[in-house]
Amino acid sequence: MNMPGVREDALDDVSSKVWDVLVVGAGPAGALAAVNLARLGHAVLLVDAKEFPRDKVCGGCLNSRGQALLSHCGLAETLERCGRTPVQFLRMAYGRRRAEWPLTGMVAVNRSQFDAVLVEEAVTSGARFCSRTFARVLDDGDDGDDRMRMVQLNRGADSAVASAKVVLAADGLARSSLRLLPGFSSRINRRSRIGLGAVVEDPGQAYPRGRLTMAVSRHGYVGVTGTADGRLNIGAAVDADSLTEAAPADVIRDILSSCGLSVPESVSQGNWCGTPALTRQGTRFAARRLFVLGDAIGYVEPFSGEGMSWAMLTSILSIPFAQAAVAGWKDWLAVDWERSLQRKVLRESWSCRQLSRLVRIPSLAVLSMWACRKMPGLPGGLAKRIGDRPIHGLPPIVPGSCCPVSGPHYRRTGSLSRMLRHERLTGSTEPTRGH
Ligand SMILES: Cc1cc2nc3c(=O)[nH]c(=O)nc-3n(C[C@H](O)[C@H](O)[C@H](O)COP(=O)(O)OP(=O)(O)OC[C@H]3O[C@@H](n4cnc5c(N)ncnc54)[C@H](O)[C@@H]3O)c2cc1C
Repeated sequence: MNMPGVREDALDDVSSKVWDVLVVGAGPAGALAAVNLARLGHAVLLVDAKEFPRDKVCGGCLNSRGQALLSHCGLAETLERCGRTPVQFLRMAYGRRRAEWPLTGMVAVNRSQFDAVLVEEAVTSGARFCSRTFARVLDDGDDGDDRMRMVQLNRGADSAVASAKVVLAADGLARSSLRLLPGFSSRINRRSRIGLGAVVEDPGQAYPRGRLTMAVSRHGYVGVTGTADGRLNIGAAVDADSLTEAAPADVIRDILSSCGLSVPESVSQGNWCGTPALTRQGTRFAARRLFVLGDAIGYVEPFSGEGMSWAMLTSILSIPFAQAAVAGWKDWLAVDWERSLQRKVLRESWSCRQLSRLVRIPSLAVLSMWACRKMPGLPGGLAKRIGDRPIHGLPPIVPGSCCPVSGPHYRRTGSLSRMLRHERLTGSTEPTRGH
């Protein structure tokens, strides 16, 4: 692991104690949770399957909401350490049609550095980190120890079982840590696209820094930004079918050239990474001593560029829940977490779903480009709606304090009777969807 100040713990060491919090996945959701909970004085273990720093398919654009969330956690300066570059213009290309609008408050970061810097912050704040460690949350069923959750850890030939008072699953789209748990599948949209990404050399000036170029075609879209170190960050969402007959670099080349945009030679030499199907929705977000965060909850498509801020928002919202669970598990914490996600986050993904529809239907894409040209204030307004929405009700992150959870939702919302009926019927206090 090439990260100064971060040492790798042996699996035997991390399995010899009960952690307050075990966080699976060191993307923005998991690493930020680890920073905050370690700063609040908890014993935190953060694990990630990859060797860090690692590449991640991402356009690397962080909206003003994401920046505000980092400031809320006292981490605004981390952006300077990962090549923060303002993105002032959005250029959209569809076929031969072009449009360009100013953007406010958007910055581009080097995604691999961004995640590594958050992990370094977590370690500096007292968390322990295990990279190259694949985690599976165990289904301890009715016989399990009620005071903790067990997690199977595997690193190469080594394996161990770690235990924690609460587990945060922030393992991204595939939710691979939850596969042993019944009911934790994802509903995958059958028309879902696949994410592709690479950082490549920039031989020319076709994609200058400060401008995000989006090339849209029937088979997907490609976003290109110039990075602080003079390279190009390319992120794309493409139809799965297009990858059955062509290599990722060819698909990217086709989309860029169908819009008459320059295709750098370096695209063919790029180290292309892919994602599983993007558009999906988790079926459950919590269970006993377990909360799900970030992309593992569900994801639409990257077009609106709000994935990192969504991940960080869920991470911050989970802090009081994790703290309360460390103090003592109550079944209503799981019910309230699902409720709080439905209220605050899932409703907000509405605009993202509408935008992704716009770029899928060619006539709508053309119409919306025409509308945006006629009404130059429209794209700015849309970007503001998505990226600048005020964030209410964030828990304060004050070291040494415990943020209160608002209280059992089912009592406040009058659904207690439903909960009790469920308990009577099933003999279980575990929440189900619909509560
Ligand atoms: C093409 C594309 C472009 C995008 N562009 C943007 C953009 O410009 N701006 C933006 O804000 N968002 C963008 N996104 C979305 C953004 O990348 C994600 O929303 C964000 O990374 C989610 O963060 P996360 O922490 O939930 O998950 P991730 O960042 O995916 O992190 C999950 C981590 O969990 C680890 N992991 C997985 N399984 C296990 C396991 N079993 N055990 C241990 N570790 C595990 C993984 O190695 C990974 O490090 C884009 C996405 C795509 C596909």
